[in-house]
Amino acid sequence: MVKAVFPGSFDPPTYGHLNIITRGAVLFDSLDIVVAVNSQKEPLLKAELIKSLFEEQLQTMNLKDVKVVIYDGLIVDYCRNVGAAVLLRGVRSSADFNYEFELSILNKQLDDKIETVLIPTEPKYFVLRSSTIKELLNLGGDISAMVPPAVESALLKLREQKT
Ligand code: ADP
Repeated sequence: MVKAVFPGSFDPPTYGHLNIITRGAVLFDSLDIVVAVNSQKEPLLKAELIKSLFEEQLQTMNLKDVKVVIYDGLIVDYCRNVGAAVLLRGVRSSADFNYEFELSILNKQLDDKIETVLIPTEPKYFVLRSSTIKELLNLGGDISAMVPPAVESALLKLREQKT
């Protein structure tokens, strides 16, 4: 039984993240999506909202043994606590790969029993970045091809509140 963990800030969750989750759920017996709380950056969406948006989306996806948790500690500690052997991450580009490779070395130093598995994105999700979505949102651009409808509604509501 191989348990995997997919950590990230997911601010906001995108179709790119959901693609990695769908493919990860096929590869592993169980998958925990771990919404990381970043104390240094003011998030666009709060971790609790990200969790409930993921949960709403997962209900429509029929994936086995996938759950969402919020965690604010070291990800290798989370893996150890739940007995997960794999840290799953996605890569869009060679720049992503460099970053993910360094992160995997760091995590390996923290716990050499936990393996990082990288899944390359599908071409259609290649340009999907949280920063681009935030910028489009600010400029009133259409983000419906990038995020699920519930995420889009949450983002539009947030933009209304800010204006
Ligand atoms: P973090 O702040 O930890 O990088 P992100 O939410 O930006 O969190 O990303 C979480 C993971 O999902 C990372 O491994 C990232 O490379 C991957 N990812 C983000 N967008 C995509 C995408 N469009 N396709 C594939 N993987 C992606």
